[in-house]
Amino acid sequence: MSREVRVRFAPSPTGPLHIGGVRTALYNYLFARRHGGKMLLRIEDTDSQRFVPGAEEYIIESLKWCGIEIDEGVGVGGPHAPYRQSERKEIYLKYATQLVEAGWAYYAFDTPEELDALRAEAEQKGETFAYNFKVREQLPTSLSLSKEEVEARIARGDQWVVRFKMPENEVVKMDDLIRGHVEMNTSTLDDKVLYKSADALPTYHLANIVDDHLMEVSHVIRGEEWLPSLPLHYLLYRAFGWEDTRPEFAHLPLLLKPTGGGKLSKRDGDKMGFPVFPLFWTSPTTGETARGYREDGYLPEAFINMLALLGWNPGTEQEVFSMQELIDTFSLDRVSKAGARFQPDKAKWFNGQYFHNLGREQLATIYQPILREHGIETSDELAGKAADIMKERVTLTTDLWDLTSFFFVAPTEYEEKLAKKQWKGDNPAMLAELRELLLTIEDFSKENTEVVVRAWIEQKGFSLGQVMNTLRLALVGAGKGPGMFDVTEFIGREECVRRIDNLIANLKPME
Ligand code: GLU
Repeated sequence: MSREVRVRFAPSPTGPLHIGGVRTALYNYLFARRHGGKMLLRIEDTDSQRFVPGAEEYIIESLKWCGIEIDEGVGVGGPHAPYRQSERKEIYLKYATQLVEAGWAYYAFDTPEELDALRAEAEQKGETFAYNFKVREQLPTSLSLSKEEVEARIARGDQWVVRFKMPENEVVKMDDLIRGHVEMNTSTLDDKVLYKSADALPTYHLANIVDDHLMEVSHVIRGEEWLPSLPLHYLLYRAFGWEDTRPEFAHLPLLLKPTGGGKLSKRDGDKMGFPVFPLFWTSPTTGETARGYREDGYLPEAFINMLALLGWNPGTEQEVFSMQELIDTFSLDRVSKAGARFQPDKAKWFNGQYFHNLGREQLATIYQPILREHGIETSDELAGKAADIMKERVTLTTDLWDLTSFFFVAPTEYEEKLAKKQWKGDNPAMLAELRELLLTIEDFSKENTEVVVRAWIEQKGFSLGQVMNTLRLALVGAGKGPGMFDVTEFIGREECVRRIDNLIANLKPME
């Protein structure tokens, strides 16, 4: 690649970032890193009606959580600052005017009412109205009005827009790095609005092209929904005389519903119980909330790994990739054209894979805040140890407490099934004896305790299962948890004895 690679993630702050958007950011990032290039973050906030407060912060926090680093852009700065389009307002009018002067665009003065009337008229005839070469000269535009009239209208403050003058019957030939060669006849396209005097703001198309040019973007990697805009974007590059430095384009496949048909939506997630957003979100206007992968107990590494493989395949059987491995293997050639079906179970599977490989220190960092939420103050060592003992059974971080709470809290009630089976016959007396034995054990490590207790069981002629399950009833309160000697070591001799005493004092033997 001869040109310096510069890619951008250019979200509009219209709400929480969908996981499809996160995947777009991720592919841009992987591509930039793979080619030693730069990753830009540009906030496209020129649509004031769709602006949602908090959405930009949400986007930035999401990228950070995912480990997607920004080299230039909002929150970071850089040589092309500002990177928020609303702060670049003054730039765009000049370019819109330039296009009008060169004959590539025109002023249009029609009102929304006039347009509605034309739309209704077309509908009556069973046609769909398009603002294009067929109508532009019948409407009050700089193509139909005299120069003086246009100037007068602008001078007196009439509202206007600049529209692109889409050529008639021309075939635009385009290349996409994923889809290959694409052609489109311009007669099927309309004259898109580029700039609006009402709010002195450009529309997406103008701002996007101007900024990609000024920010020296080399590759535009974005969602498939923008493919229909590509002919206009190609023509805009031509109109500005920027074809030589026009970026290359790659349109990513859609993320599809788990059932296949259609785009993955929040509704699918709500129905099937999985998030479609990276982080929890509360709408500042309606108060509506949406769940997020972070809060649902996913690790960012697993989330990213899962997303990377939705639309890209490495060409091998490998499934688990660290960010660095993704960077080393990612290429746009292996991004598919077909939509990628989202599989919620696969996301969980990835999370389990990552979780099972965590070391005690990482586990402690993850577990401590959860423990604190439950009012438990403990050392990092014990938090890490508890999580480590049970990590093989964890799928989501949120499983941790259920799986390990007994390490920190003595049972206050006893699972009926286990109690019925164990708390009867000779078992209460046997447990009382075991209590005395435990008190004599100096070295309470799980290895030593196991040797001593097993020898005692043998000597007494008890059955191992009977002793262990009764002890489990006392220490855990339920038929779950790790091996009993992991529990005895963790909670220590005094706590073992206390829990045995509790059981004896509080639960009447069954029968
Ligand atoms: N602001 C556009 C969006 O939301 C950017 C599309 C593009 O990357 O060109 O998604």
